[in-house]
Amino acid sequence: MPAPKLDIVPDESYGLFLAERRRGIVSRLAVACSRAGRDVSEVGMLAVSKMVEPEAVRCAWRAGWRAFAENRPQELGRKLSFVESEATPEMATARFDLIGNLQKNKINQVIGKVELLHSVSSAELARAVSSRCEAHGLVQACLLEVNVSGEQSKSGFAPDEARAFAEEACALPGISIEGLMTMAPRGDADAARATFSGLRELAGDLRTRTGFALPTLSCGMSDDFQIAVEEGSTLVRLGRVVFDPEYDFF
Ligand SMILES: *Cc1c(COP(=O)(O)O)cnc(C)c1O
Repeated sequence: MPAPKLDIVPDESYGLFLAERRRGIVSRLAVACSRAGRDVSEVGMLAVSKMVEPEAVRCAWRAGWRAFAENRPQELGRKLSFVESEATPEMATARFDLIGNLQKNKINQVIGKVELLHSVSSAELARAVSSRCEAHGLVQACLLEVNVSGEQSKSGFAPDEARAFAEEACALPGISIEGLMTMAPRGDADAARATFSGLRELAGDLRTRTGFALPTLSCGMSDDFQIAVEEGSTLVRLGRVVFDPEYDFF
């Protein structure tokens, strides 16, 4: 099922709301960076637009957002058609990432269209994406999705599987492994922190094993992005906090 869309009107007052939220997010992010002794330039922000219509993405662009993420290939295609249309010449440089599950039969809808594919969740998928990319003569930047918390419901490599596969992954010719992605358990700040620090430690381990830089740690969402930044996230994925006026952000 596609994510249900928020009931919003993409008008001027929604634009003002988006701009004010963005200022709030940027200032929280700066506080988290300073607590961790990090520079704000080390942390990128993605506006996860799955729960809004394309017109609201344009509002977000005007409010200052430059990078977006979708969790489904079909919805990604809708948003890409919109930003590439004549209605939105100013959005020609908008970045889109895919952060959700990718089925093998959808690979061609995504490769070469996203800046970063966050959801390479198995060896089989990594090999399949690589071979499709090779066939198209491109190299797709990817992250390995890791199930650090070990929850049954989550997809991704177990940490030990990631260790075992990392060298092969880095050697696959059609993909370039830029780092790791994870999702924390919901509603539990301590478990979230442990998940994010686990991701950071795993990345360190994989750097030693592979000799690759693996600079990107994609973690942190609306409820836990400040914790993620304190634990080393380089890319936070923000949905409700960006777009939803009802989201409790204080
Ligand atoms: C929806 C989604 C997000 C954003 O979640 P919010 O809690 O709304 O910020 C981040 N990452 C993934 C993989 C998602 O599917």
